[in-house]
Amino acid sequence: MSTFHSTVTRREFMKGLGLAGAGVGAASLTSPAFHDLDELLSSPSYNKRPWWVKSREIGNPTTDIDWSMMDGSFDQRLEAHHIHTHALYIGFDEMEALESQNKRANEELANMKANVPGYSHPTYALDKASPGGPTKTWTGSKKVKSPEELGVPRWQGSPEENSKLLHAATRLWGASQIGISTVDSNSKKMHFKYLKTGSEGLLGREWPPPLTVSKEFKWVNEDVGYENTTSITLPGNKQMYLIGIVTPMSKELWRRSPSIFKNIANGTRGLRNGPLAQGPHAFLYGLGYHYYTHMSDGNDPISSPAACIMGGAAEMARQDNFCFTPEDGSCVGTFAAWTDIPLAPEAPIDAGMFKFCATCGKCAEFCPSNSISREKEPTWEIPLSRGKERVYHFPGKKAYWCDGDTCHLYYAYNAGGCGICYGTCSFNVDTSAMIHKLSKGMISTVPLFNGFLFNISKSFGYGVVPPEEMESWWDLSLPSLGSDTSIEAWDIGYNK
Ligand code: SF4
Ligand code: SF4
Repeated sequence: MSTFHSTVTRREFMKGLGLAGAGVGAASLTSPAFHDLDELLSSPSYNKRPWWVKSREIGNPTTDIDWSMMDGSFDQRLEAHHIHTHALYIGFDEMEALESQNKRANEELANMKANVPGYSHPTYALDKASPGGPTKTWTGSKKVKSPEELGVPRWQGSPEENSKLLHAATRLWGASQIGISTVDSNSKKMHFKYLKTGSEGLLGREWPPPLTVSKEFKWVNEDVGYENTTSITLPGNKQMYLIGIVTPMSKELWRRSPSIFKNIANGTRGLRNGPLAQGPHAFLYGLGYHYYTHMSDGNDPISSPAACIMGGAAEMARQDNFCFTPEDGSCVGTFAAWTDIPLAPEAPIDAGMFKFCATCGKCAEFCPSNSISREKEPTWEIPLSRGKERVYHFPGKKAYWCDGDTCHLYYAYNAGGCGICYGTCSFNVDTSAMIHKLSKGMISTVPLFNGFLFNISKSFGYGVVPPEEMESWWDLSLPSLGSDTSIEAWDIGYNK
């Protein structure tokens, strides 16, 4: 039986490239990649990915990592959303003036009253009404009975069986992908020392802020982690597993950046937060284990894209504030969770996406604040910002460093925010179209064509929609929760 199980057959793919039947010349360029297609299909049955998604070695993502450059001391209170951090670059007076003017909210209200496209009254109301957001249940509610209470032994599945259960359960509750990695002495160094703790915009002149505002994160010599008023903890006595969780966001909303639609787009990553926190918390408690997450970057002690990349759910992007997946592209929300149920670690992926960024650079071209690196290659060195060291980045990855300070200053204080990089990313395409399956296969297997594909993506007109067409979103008939989740199950679940 052929394991070339995509809905695009090998012959269709070759034909799409105009290479079917070719033996030399152009086709020979592809031969190293096509030799081993069947070998690429190494993902487990419970986590089938498109055929062009290659598995790498455990712990070795397409982003180079130097663990010796990390020490677990990153202070997330200094990340680039805070008055305090911006003030290190532009001064407290200017920062506090910006905050006190309430400029963005006032401009958005004025635009709504003037019926500017993208700020209509219904669009404005939809944004204010958007549900979702972080949960406040690090250890979850105990709404189910434990095995002890049920009078049965704790569930004892193999790591692979347990991974299968977690994949199926999280998919049911709204994840498009999860990626699993083992917490070891290296990955402990990626954890933060302090949390942002839901205090966005609040950390100002007082430094350090009280731990009741920004909690400390600690590994403790216990079997079970906990949260109190000043800290959150994970158990150091148990083997823990890190789970990167990806949720889909609406591509069509992101294409309407910047506008109120962009605000709504950003909120779509949280539509599934409640079920994705409460469900696994209770499910694993019912099996006799523990699960920890707030489903929030500000309240959880790690960079969620890093968790997704290490567990094989995603690759890092040039715009290194986000990572992207082969299925959903740039329009994904990412979250992290931890558990003590034994799981099978998953290999980081290579879908050619991070490599594609080297020849693309579309997000950098369209970034209005010039925050996205235009370097040809990623670097270990973190660039300066306004001549000063960037306190909001931590070293140890070879990246295109996006300036979080200049980016946030732009989008936090202008009507409609920004989000152009999400909306315009070359991977923000309708993945179900055949041409995109072919293109993504080419990106993965024949990087030589990446420049050509970038130009094709531009000529297709993908990217943000013109301002005058913003309100056309209301005319679309989009799937439930605003995104096509069928693209996340490569075989739609039935191609066993
Ligand atoms: S959100 Fe806007 S300003 Fe920030 S990096 Fe993206 S394009 Fe640039
Ligand atoms: S627009 Fe291009 S360079 Fe930027 S993240 Fe997307 S693929 Fe990478």
